[in-house]
Formats: sequence, C-alpha cells, structure tokens
Amino acid sequence: MNDAPRTYDVVVIGAGPVGENLADRTQAAGLSTVIVESELVGGECSYWACMPSKALLRPVIARADARRLPGLSEAAAGPLDSAAVLARRDAFTSHWKDDGQVDWLTSVNVGLVRGHGRIDGPRQVTVSTPDGGTVRLTARHAVAVCTGTTAALPPLPGLADVHPWTSREATSAKAVPESLVVVGGGVVAVEMATAWQALGSRVTVLVRGGELLPRMEPFAGELVADGLREAGAEVRFGVSVTSVAREGRTVRVGLDDGGELTADEILFAIGRKPHTDDLGLDTVGLTPGGWLPVDDTLQVTDIADGWLYAAGDVNHRALLTHQGKYQGRIAGAVIAARAKGEPLDDTPWGAHVATADTEAVPQVVFTDPEVSAVGRTAVEAEQAGRRIKVVDHDLAGVAGASLYGDGYRGRARMVVDLDRGHLVGVTFVGPGVGELIHSATVAVAGEVPIERLWHAVPSYPTISEIWLRLLEAYRG
Ligand SMILES: Cc1cc2nc3c(=O)[nH]c(=O)nc-3n(C[C@H](O)[C@H](O)[C@H](O)COP(=O)(O)OP(=O)(O)OC[C@H]3O[C@@H](n4cnc5c(N)ncnc54)[C@H](O)[C@@H]3O)c2cc1C
Repeated sequence: MNDAPRTYDVVVIGAGPVGENLADRTQAAGLSTVIVESELVGGECSYWACMPSKALLRPVIARADARRLPGLSEAAAGPLDSAAVLARRDAFTSHWKDDGQVDWLTSVNVGLVRGHGRIDGPRQVTVSTPDGGTVRLTARHAVAVCTGTTAALPPLPGLADVHPWTSREATSAKAVPESLVVVGGGVVAVEMATAWQALGSRVTVLVRGGELLPRMEPFAGELVADGLREAGAEVRFGVSVTSVAREGRTVRVGLDDGGELTADEILFAIGRKPHTDDLGLDTVGLTPGGWLPVDDTLQVTDIADGWLYAAGDVNHRALLTHQGKYQGRIAGAVIAARAKGEPLDDTPWGAHVATADTEAVPQVVFTDPEVSAVGRTAVEAEQAGRRIKVVDHDLAGVAGASLYGDGYRGRARMVVDLDRGHLVGVTFVGPGVGELIHSATVAVAGEVPIERLWHAVPSYPTISEIWLRLLEAYRG
C-alpha cells in the first residue's frame, strides 16, 4: 500500500546515535523532523557495537584490576562467570529490542518511519516499508544521511559458507567458542580478542602489518600486545589469511606463510564500509557505495542548493559514536540556522562547524591495559607540518598509578605545538586511563596555553598526577 507523500522540514535516514541526535536538535529548533530506520532505533552502537562490547569488557577489566590488588587477587583468581557476563550484555542491548528508544523519539516529537530509505531526487526520500508498501517523504529544508557502516569482509573464496563472525556476531554471540581466530589489529580486533580470551576462548590474533592499533602512538599497540599475550592470547604479525573453509564445527584457516590454523570461529575485524550502496545516491549524481564527503558544516559537497547533509560514520570523518553525535548536534544547528535565514558562525571552533573532528577526536580502547588518546600522534603532527616537542613519561612513576594496582605498567605522551604553545595530542596507556582522557580533550580542544596548564593542579594521589610529571619534563 502506498501512502500519500508527506512533507517535513527535515528527513533523517538512519536512527543510530547520530541520526537520533541530529533529529533531536532540528526538532528542538522548531523544524518538523522525521527519521527513517530499517532495523533498530539506536543503530549499530546500541545493539552490536559500543554497548554490548563494553558490557562484555567491563567485568574483564574489573577482574584484571582486582588481580593486581593483594587482598582481592585471590578472590578474583577464578574464571569469569561467562553466562552472567553474557546475560548482563543482553540487558545492556535491551535484548535487541528498541521500545525504549522509540519511546524517547516520541517524547521529543520526532516522527518515525520504519523501512529502508532511499533518496529519490533532490529533497525526496522513498521508504520501502516492512509490509511491502512505500512511503514518500519530502524535505522542505534538508535530508540528513546518518546510515553508518557495516563490517568489511575480505574477498576470500567460499567465505560466506564459513559463516565468519563480524563485529555483530562478536558482540552478540550467545556462547563462548573454545577457540577464536581474530583477523585484524585495530580497535575492534583488540577489544574483542581481550573479551573472548577472558571469557574462556583460546584466541589467536592475526595481524597483516607489524603492529596493533596502527593509528595510535606506537607504544599503545606494544603494551596492548603484551597484555593480550599475558592473558594467554597468541598475537602474530605479518601474516594474512589466504583461505578459509568450514569442516563441521571447525574453521580451517590458510595463511600466506604456508601455515594453517583451526578454530571454532573466525572474526574478521578488518575495517568498515559505508552503508550507502542502496541509498539512491545515483539519483542525485553521487556514487553508490562510497563514503559521503562533507564540508565542516556537514553539508555533502558537490550537491547543488545544499539540501543534503551526512553525519556520523558515513562521512568517514571519525568513526566513533561520541564524535558522530557531536556532528549531529552541529549539523542540527546548521540546518536550523539556514532554515531560519540566520548567519552561520563557520570560523574554526564556531557553533556551526565540526572543528573537533580534525583537531581533537578522543578515543578510548577498552583493553588491559586501556588506551586513551586525543588529537594528533607525533607522526600525524609532523605530517601536518607542525613544529613539535614530544614529551613521554612512565605512568608507573606516579603515586596514584602504583596505588591503583601492583606492578602497574603504562606510559603517557603529550605532543606540544611549539609555535602555538599548546597541546595537539595526548596519549595515555595503562589501567584506568580511560577516565583520564577528558582532561586532555579539554586541553587540546581549548588550546589551553601550556604555561597555564602548570596551574591546573592534579589531585594527590590520582593517576592524573601524570600531568605534573609531563609538564615538569616539558619545562626541563
Ligand atoms: C564492535 C564495535 C565497538 C565499538 N565501540 C565503540 C565505542 O566504545 N565507542 C565509540 O564511540 N564508538 C564505538 N564504535 C563505533 C560506533 O559504533 C559508530 O561510530 C557508531 O555506531 C556510528 O553511529 P551512526 O549513527 O553513524 O551509525 P550506526 O550506529 O551504524 O547507525 C546507522 C543506522 O542507520 C540505519 N540505516 C542504514 N541504512 C539505512 C537506510 N537506507 N534506510 C533506513 N535506515 C538505514 C541502520 O539500520 C542503523 O540503525 C564501535 C564499533 C564497533 C563495530
């Protein structure tokens, strides 16, 4: 059954965290807004990414921390209760039901159309609904694409018959496999290797390159590799998968060094691809299947009249929920200002540009040890032509860190832009550093003069005293 065309000020395609935030902002600004969702309101993040992965990892990290504390280590010596961990994970995904998030959309007055949305010419979106019908939507002001990404898989013959795990299965599996091969060395690979090894799998990580977490400071990947090995996982570098075949319950994995492995499951965590292949991009002159390039106001470049926006993973600026939600807030403000004919503040760090996407993206990797970083690495800063000073410090030398756990190992780096006199990047690696990163984000995004940071006194005895050590080392 086909509905009569409906007109809204703003049509958002994709109700992941980014679409939800963008829709909330435009509706709050007085623009009627509808959101189109083909699966679950809440997106990848709520059901197959951030929430379930962190629910799996929280007990793993808590146990690792407890094992470093005499008086508690004995009590934490045993295995995790994997059934209880998986049950808590299920609760955090609301058992893969989206009623709570649909209620929230209703409470903020955003309309919802369930189905697959496709752009159908300028300002037009056609939705194929689950009952076989069609809903036609027209946007007075803007269409915002917030369709996210899916897991990339390698072009290996017979891969589909192997039923490999992607991030979806790795975050939603109902049982612990006896053995698991993890292909990849990025964040999803190291987090899922950490989780399943601790839950009882024998994990082997296969990395094509020579390091883990290649986009971060090199010591991050080194310390995480040490942590994985100490937890019992095998980590192999410089190796690629050339063949896969399933024989009964076993996956046979062929390697380019001539070796072979067998495991119960294989997880490919080799990257993401944009959810744009069946989005009608060709109807407005864009290439299906590609990332959607945007300017700093989140407007898709190369589109006449500026009615098309893309926010979140799909624009490839920073594939992180918090950064996509920031983009959603900025894009919402941009769409509202343009609709009302108000001027944009699009100077760097202005209200209508996502400057932090290039200058101050924070990220936490929930492994043991944790990694947290913001801004540029030393190499990235140099490549950007900055004149920098790199200051490193051993985190174990801080009183708060040694109190945090015996045998504490960790490292910190700050990258100082010598011409601008402020930090452009900070990385911490060590237990408990995830909660430390926002201090660095404020310093980097705020471009706080390095001399003023000397007056930001960290509490004693916290791990934050690393700031004092880094600043002392900088001042010589
Ligand atoms: C295992 C894993 C762990 C992660 N952990 C973290 C973390 O801890 N912290 C963090 O910040 N980031 C994390 N991320 C990244 C995070 O999941 C993404 O950055 C985030 O989900 C992006 O949000 P989004 O709204 O852009 O896209 P998504 O969350 O992917 O949502 C897109 C939505 O659009 C819908 N959609 C797509 N196409 C259409 C269409 N044509 N019509 C209608 N609907 C459509 C989809 O069904 C989906 O609901 C993790 C990723 C993975 C894979």
